[in-house]
Amino acid sequence: MTQVPMPHLLLLVGSQHLYGPGPLEQVASHAREVAAALDAAPDLPLPVRFGGVLTTANEIQRACLAADADPNCAGLVLWMHTFSPARMWIGGLAGLRKPFCHLHTQYHRDLPWDAIDMDFMNLHQAAHGDREAGFLHTRLRSTRKVIAGHWADPAVQRRVGDWARAARAWHDLQGARIARFGDNMRHVAVTEGDKVGAQVRFGFSVEGYGVGDLVARVRAVDDAAVNELIDAYQDAYDVAPELRPGGERHESLRTGARIELGLRAFLAEGDFRAFTTTFEDLHGLDQLPGLAVQRLMADGFGFGAEGDWKTAALLRAVKVMAAGRDRGTSFMEDYTYDLGPDGPRVLGSHMLEVCPTIAEGRPRLEIHALGIGGKADPVRLVFDAKTGPAINVSLIDLGQRFRLIVNEVDAVGHPPLPKLPVARAVWTCRPDFATACEAWIHAGGAHHTAFSFDVGSDVIADFADIADVELVVIDADTRLRDLRRELRHGDVVHGLRGGFRD
Ligand code: MN
Repeated sequence: MTQVPMPHLLLLVGSQHLYGPGPLEQVASHAREVAAALDAAPDLPLPVRFGGVLTTANEIQRACLAADADPNCAGLVLWMHTFSPARMWIGGLAGLRKPFCHLHTQYHRDLPWDAIDMDFMNLHQAAHGDREAGFLHTRLRSTRKVIAGHWADPAVQRRVGDWARAARAWHDLQGARIARFGDNMRHVAVTEGDKVGAQVRFGFSVEGYGVGDLVARVRAVDDAAVNELIDAYQDAYDVAPELRPGGERHESLRTGARIELGLRAFLAEGDFRAFTTTFEDLHGLDQLPGLAVQRLMADGFGFGAEGDWKTAALLRAVKVMAAGRDRGTSFMEDYTYDLGPDGPRVLGSHMLEVCPTIAEGRPRLEIHALGIGGKADPVRLVFDAKTGPAINVSLIDLGQRFRLIVNEVDAVGHPPLPKLPVARAVWTCRPDFATACEAWIHAGGAHHTAFSFDVGSDVIADFADIADVELVVIDADTRLRDLRRELRHGDVVHGLRGGFRD
């Protein structure tokens, strides 16, 4: 995946001067070891640096201000090795903008029952030191991740890693630019929303362009670059004979390649991380971009069809969360159902734009008619998706606030689809079709989603916490009656939220 920054996390360890210099040196040595272990942990996607043992209010405030000002710091990991009176942390944490994770751990895994004395007790006090810290975090209404367990335990490291994935996506969204070619699909509701509100809440900006700006970039593409890209297509995909050099429709593939090169150049020149298109506004483009969008998604760009900038931003975020994993993440749309005896199953797809990172096997590069948009037949990759556990995530704008909705699903096998000329995934929903669909519809979830094999709902939950937006999870434990109550309570809680914060 291209264009994914690699920020770091900073481990800050709390203590105080009550114990003298000897114990503080030991605390620092332990803290360095823990930071190095987290840094090396295979389940942590980001480097972890040791940011020091902090023992005074001034040190703490300086460390927090420095972390906030550091563009390469994605967040803090806090741990109170000894007791660290928490009023010392108010100045640092009250204004902190970066996300933080409270790692409730201790240096020794095993209690040395035979050897334990009061020196040991004084040194290893996280059991109560972290409670003092936790009280203050709660008192400050700080939304944070709390993870309890031994730092060397792979399960603990995996949970820190999940949070780090969310923190990395958040870091990536701050200042991220989304290019929007044309406007929204006419009359559509769920893809609309408050772009100013989204920039305030999530940190990304949506910048509109006439499709003519893109057309100019596409027309400037030179033939040598098109030839090279045609070769790359033939290396990566099973190209339909009619599209190959010498084939009767080869010119259509060249048009598709030109659109990809123009779009790629436009996004690179503007430093965009996501984009939208709309089939209703293609003036001057010969085809609806299909292949181009698919390949840009595979390179890590977020995408939303029909002007859907919220899903474009969300897909970019989920792709950053998924970085380093290889099962795949795609733009998706719930398209149609199999409600027969082998179902219920959902067939997910789109007109063209499904990301080949989720493909099982080698995609086919084909050309078919598209009944929508009134343009020339577009080239596209056609494939079946992998199978296995996955999620669908939606971001909606309820007017007063944003809501994330996630459904845990299982992608499954299906009969061949010889006449369906688009890429597709088929899944079953947890806990079951009716509950999941009714819950999704009650929650207002969109038909466009980010679909991922690489990210679980825990990572989305961490992201929702960092973004401070409402999250609705539909999983194996969901009961519709409880979920509807949760939605009603959510209206009250989130409606009053401003009043609850200090
Ligand atoms: Mn759509």
